Formats: sequence, structure tokens, C-alpha cells
Amino acid sequence: MPELPEMELYRLELSKHFIGKPITGVEINREKSVNMPVPQFTSALERKKIIGIRRRAKYLIFDLSSGDHLLLHLMLGGWMFIGSDRVSPDRTKQVILSFGEKKLFFINLRLGYLHLVTPDELDKKLAVLGPEPFDPKFQLTDFQERLSKKRGVLKSILIDPKFIAGIGNCYSDEICFEARLRPTKKAADLTDHKIQSLFNAIKPTLSRALQIGGYMDYPLYVNDTKTGCYNDHFLVYECENLPCKRCGTLIERTDISKRKSFFCPSCQD
Ligand SMILES: [Zn+2]
Repeated sequence: MPELPEMELYRLELSKHFIGKPITGVEINREKSVNMPVPQFTSALERKKIIGIRRRAKYLIFDLSSGDHLLLHLMLGGWMFIGSDRVSPDRTKQVILSFGEKKLFFINLRLGYLHLVTPDELDKKLAVLGPEPFDPKFQLTDFQERLSKKRGVLKSILIDPKFIAGIGNCYSDEICFEARLRPTKKAADLTDHKIQSLFNAIKPTLSRALQIGGYMDYPLYVNDTKTGCYNDHFLVYECENLPCKRCGTLIERTDISKRKSFFCPSCQD
């Protein structure tokens, strides 16, 4: 599932292509991907301009000139492609937005969705989310205090969007590795020093993934050489039985509440 770095990269790229551009056509091939009858959704979008593209947690928000917003969540396996009638992946596209000849394809939205929402509906949806890791207000003292109230293991806490926004199965493991803490470690057992290590691991881990290109499986456009390059740079995620990049010990896998989790048994405590 795309997490903060992947969605942030999408935001940056889509902004270059679509901000200021009017939507000239809407094609919905899966009614369940949107939140209202197709004719209603289509007429609300047509001829509206995209005036901004924002990210909150794993959501992308397209601000429309009508004052409403498109709220996108790719969930598990969803992805996007920028192309045209002539150039697009040979896949079923659940939603297609046209901007003249250029098209934005939404692919594999099985659980994912593109909803048209009012400002109030958007606020309500986002209000439950925890802090953004790159928000200047996200500080150690607050993190420490909120963590002290949490039961459970680090992995489960890090992927809880109410605790911190944008982190999922991959980066929770990567962050724990960076902090030299096991994903199975209980928050209650952390010393102040270890809480600090955990906090200090969050931003660098996400920044690195963002710089490298995130871990998507598909390019965003033809000749896209960046999207997905993090697939070759995982520290521990999906690295079972490979040598730890820090100490050479073989990485192990364990399952935490049915989620796979990877760690080094030697240098993560
Ligand atoms: Zn190690």
C-alpha cells in the first residue's frame, strides 16, 4: 500500500501536470470507486479546474475550482498513470480523468476510491488523523506523551493513522530498523532514550524513501525512472534471509496481527 513517500511523490508529479488545468472528460468504469451516481459525479467534475493538490496521511486531495474536493485513497494495490488515449498501461482503469489529450488513469482501485466531497465532509474525514511527520508541530515531547499512553507493540502503533499519519507496513519496519528497535517491542518498555531514537528515525527514513522514489511497482508515466526505485533500497522490509545492511545477520520475518514484519535479530533490540 502506498504510504507517505509514495503519495507525496504522486502529489509532486501530479501538481506539475494538472494544477490550473480544467477537467475535460470523466470516465467511470467501476461505479463503486466513486461515491455518487456516475452522471452526478461526472457533471460535478466536468469543466472544473484543479486548483491545488494536497496530501494528508495517505490521502491525496484535489481541490476543485467549484470549491469541492476529490479525495483519493489508493488502499492496497491502487496506482496512477499519466498518459493519453495512445499511451496507457494495458490494465482496467476504474476512473479516467481527461485534461485535453492528457489523461490521468486510476488503476486497480479495488478497495481504493475517488470521492467527491464538500469542504465540511473533507474536514470531518481528516479530523481523526494523527500528526504529519513533517509538520513542524510534530515534536518529541508530544510524541513521547502520546506514546506513553499507548499499549501494544511499536509496529501496531506506528501504522495507526490516529497516532501518526502516513505510515504503513513498509515504513513502520524501516523506521524500527533505523531506530534499532524491534517492531514487536512494547511501547511501555521503552526508555526515554529509546523513544527519542524512535522519534529521530521517522523523518530521515521517510525522507530517504522520498528522495529515492518510494516503493511503487509501476511507473507514473512513460520513461519515469524514479517512481518505485526504493524497491531496491529496502533496509529490512521484504528482506527475509538477506544479510542486515548494518551487521550482516540474516533478517527475520515475524507476523504481528497478521501483518508481516521484518527485523534484524542482532542489531534491533
Ligand atoms: Zn543487523
